[in-house]
Amino acid sequence: MSTSTQPEKHTFQAEVQQLLDIVINSLYTDREIFVRELVSNASDALEKLRHIQLTEKEVFDDRLPLEINISTDDTANTLTIQDFGVGMTRDELLENLGTIAHSGSKAFLQAIRESGGKNENLIGQFGVGFYSAFMVAKRVKVYTRSWRKDETGWCWTCEGAGSYELEAAEGQRRGCKIVVELKDECKEFAGADRVREILRRYSSFVQFPINLNGDKVNTVQALWLRSKSEISDEEYTEFYKFAANAFDEPRYRLHFSADAPIAINALLFTPRDNPERMGFGRVDPGVALYCRKILIDHHPKALLPEWLRFLKGVVDSEALPLNISRESMQDSALVQKLNRLLTKRFLKFLEEEAEKRPDGYAEFFGRFGFFLKEGAATDFTHREQLTKLLRFESNLTEKDKLTSLTDYVSRMKEGQEEIYYLSGPSREAIESGPYLEAFRARNLEVLYLYEPVDEFVMNNLHEFEGGKFASADQADLKLDDAPSPASGDALDEAETTELCRWMRDVLGERVADISPGKRLVESPALALKADKMMTPTMRRMMKAMNEEFDDAAKVNLEINPRHSLIKKVASLRRSDENLAKLVAEQIFDNALISAGLLEDPRRIVDRVYQLLEAATGQQRPTPDSEPEPPSKGAAGKKESPDD
Ligand code: ADP
Ligand code: MG
Repeated sequence: MSTSTQPEKHTFQAEVQQLLDIVINSLYTDREIFVRELVSNASDALEKLRHIQLTEKEVFDDRLPLEINISTDDTANTLTIQDFGVGMTRDELLENLGTIAHSGSKAFLQAIRESGGKNENLIGQFGVGFYSAFMVAKRVKVYTRSWRKDETGWCWTCEGAGSYELEAAEGQRRGCKIVVELKDECKEFAGADRVREILRRYSSFVQFPINLNGDKVNTVQALWLRSKSEISDEEYTEFYKFAANAFDEPRYRLHFSADAPIAINALLFTPRDNPERMGFGRVDPGVALYCRKILIDHHPKALLPEWLRFLKGVVDSEALPLNISRESMQDSALVQKLNRLLTKRFLKFLEEEAEKRPDGYAEFFGRFGFFLKEGAATDFTHREQLTKLLRFESNLTEKDKLTSLTDYVSRMKEGQEEIYYLSGPSREAIESGPYLEAFRARNLEVLYLYEPVDEFVMNNLHEFEGGKFASADQADLKLDDAPSPASGDALDEAETTELCRWMRDVLGERVADISPGKRLVESPALALKADKMMTPTMRRMMKAMNEEFDDAAKVNLEINPRHSLIKKVASLRRSDENLAKLVAEQIFDNALISAGLLEDPRRIVDRVYQLLEAATGQQRPTPDSEPEPPSKGAAGKKESPDD
């Protein structure tokens, strides 16, 4: 490089040097973003040139392609970034690179605006990005030649401390060539692979071709900025695969833009299947944040609520300051605004899908419903919208068909105040359990909950459109009188009370309360949780955590005074109390089994043998505990020999 004059030395102002130190040491989290900044500047310079080419007749080197060429040299330890953009005159060099916090781009934008034009493609607004190169450079050289015909070339050299040099440089092409001479500990940035990775991450969507050592790097288009009608399904899918690093086809996509309250363009996808369900552990947020096609953060946590972590895609907002480091990005009010806007929009999208294509939505819900449930239980802001998107099976739906809560409420009976649900591992398990019959007999709808998270959701929601959520196996539910089954008379009230008291004595500690149940239709008895909060799922969890956990005493028993077996026990207890005791105990254990509450099945085996023997008339039964006391007034057949 021949120079025509002696280099001139310039000194930074003291406060400029201070600012430079801040930029170098603490503005950015990742050193690698200096590449993004220099490429952004190159892109800005090309964008400016394109604009100028439209208005000016005389442009130096007019034929040069609008592209960015990057080369690495791991012997010389340099990274060179060249663009054929506007370049800089001597004065511009002094002004733009000699002064921190003076942004030429900003001034340029201003000028365009004043002339009534508009250019949204300029990235830099803060005038500090260039200096990020000094995080990795021991020296930066900027060779440049302005687009103006009668200018000359210049070389600006700086080591990041105190001063910089300026000298004339002959034979320059239009634009800027920035040679970053790397510090020893930053050699990695002279490696082609490393630089390609950085370019792909941050600059994939820059609108001008970026060539790295001769190969084009940015082959994917910034689809989100194009108009929907121009984009084919294939392009969307290809983009999804790129953005999500995925192999599947997206299930849903939402492409939209908004002007208020913030200008954004967003392109969001849901994968086909839920990776968390497929055993891949918790997924990381997958929507990247861009500002005018330049990546700001790959996985900004605060951009979407936790429960939307399954979304993939891109959000681009030109309102974002590019030169903000990630930490400060997280809690910025702007990101919160974006979060609200995106969440609302996505929920609206789901509502529309649920309405227009319910089958597709049901399929989506089957795979991703877990996230919506998580949101409904934890995200107060969006609870209402989310709750409406939940779907369940019920006794009124067919197997595998789902109902919304809104539809449930529309089917609620006159005077029904509660939304009933039952938990169980499957439809079959719930329907063969003892709790449903009372509701079935009264034509009441009961939602089926198959997953532990469902109960968690119900407990958190409490109610929906005035209906309180209530587990159908709760003891304190008030149901209307059941339509009387045809099978006839019940025990009268006095007898029933007497029987309950007697059973209390027989069952002792194991039962909290015994009462005549109104809800029973077909079963002789029903075990109910005395403790509302202690759902079967909860119990299983408690037991898993603590082996000692025991709530066996917390069961209420409802007996069915209309059931023939109960009526038999009532009379048998006078004729053969020991046998009656065995039957009562077995009825209780059967109820526990049906309710999934039986702790220790071993005692049953012994008792059933005794009952079998009694039934086959071999031997007089004895109660579990004490040795047989001769029963007083018992008129069993066994006594007949004494007659
Ligand atoms: P910003 O990009 O936010 O304006 P920078 O510190 O990145 O701030 O750059 C400062 C200024 O230097 C830019 O505004 C621009 O005027 C000038 N500049 C930087 N890189 C180039 C380039 N490759 N070509 C022309 N001008 C450039
Ligand atoms: Mg910049």
